[in-house]
Amino acid sequence: MHCYVIEGDDGRMLVDTGLALPALETLLRSELDGPVERILITHFHPDHVWGGEVARDVTGAHIFQGRLDYEQCERVWGSRDWPERIAAWFRTHGTPTEVADQVLEQARAALPLIRFARDPEPLQDGDVVDGWEVLELPGHADGHLGFFRDGVLAAGDHLLPDITPAVGLYPDSRPDPLGAYLDSLERTIGLEPRLALPSHGEPIEDPIGRAYEILEHHRRRLARTVEALEAEPQTAYRLSFQLFPADLDPPQRRFAVAETLSHVERLVQEGQARHQGSDGSVTYTAA
Ligand SMILES: [Zn+2]
Repeated sequence: MHCYVIEGDDGRMLVDTGLALPALETLLRSELDGPVERILITHFHPDHVWGGEVARDVTGAHIFQGRLDYEQCERVWGSRDWPERIAAWFRTHGTPTEVADQVLEQARAALPLIRFARDPEPLQDGDVVDGWEVLELPGHADGHLGFFRDGVLAAGDHLLPDITPAVGLYPDSRPDPLGAYLDSLERTIGLEPRLALPSHGEPIEDPIGRAYEILEHHRRRLARTVEALEAEPQTAYRLSFQLFPADLDPPQRRFAVAETLSHVERLVQEGQARHQGSDGSVTYTAA
């Protein structure tokens, strides 16, 4: 996981904050060899936002976060029933109780680690922070932001070099996150960035080429999802075994089900799949 220090018009800015691990404060004190004026958050996932309070204490800087992203941050991390909600969502999509229970247990174990900085300065698309343009690039997270200046995109998890960013459908997320992500990739191509700074892996020297590769990956996976659909209703849990390996552990299966859902809901939008049921049990058929 990388945090970046970028130059603004009147001072340096830290992009993302890492997990709030015991070593974070020492790390920030030793690595930040000068003042930081602002802290920018790309999205609310743990490795980007949980270190926010520590980073704010060490630097004294204000935190800036997307308006929508902070709403989701509060909704997901701000209440203690997150493990129960994620487990219920997992069961709704056909996951056997014993697998959902393991996810519940692991999520409960992580509760004491959850933290985020309250009341950040809100950002939205089109804002400019210290010379950097704020871009909403939804997909990997609904309110994911990128920061763009002089052809350089601080990309968070929107564009990654070695793995395809996860795009999942979760409780409380937008109804068609993959559709939003494909649009964000097209938008990225249109910006013609010459360099992208991802949160994982090395800087991306050909962001346009990488965006095309990821578009192609999702086109292939959508085609496989169409093939997996039948006249007989199937849950996303069952469909995920046709799109992902069979031997995933419960947390990995959770990601596989969320990814399967984002693909099959895209197909619903395209008229190639049908969605049945609501609370309690959801299934899909070929259209
Ligand atoms: Zn992320």
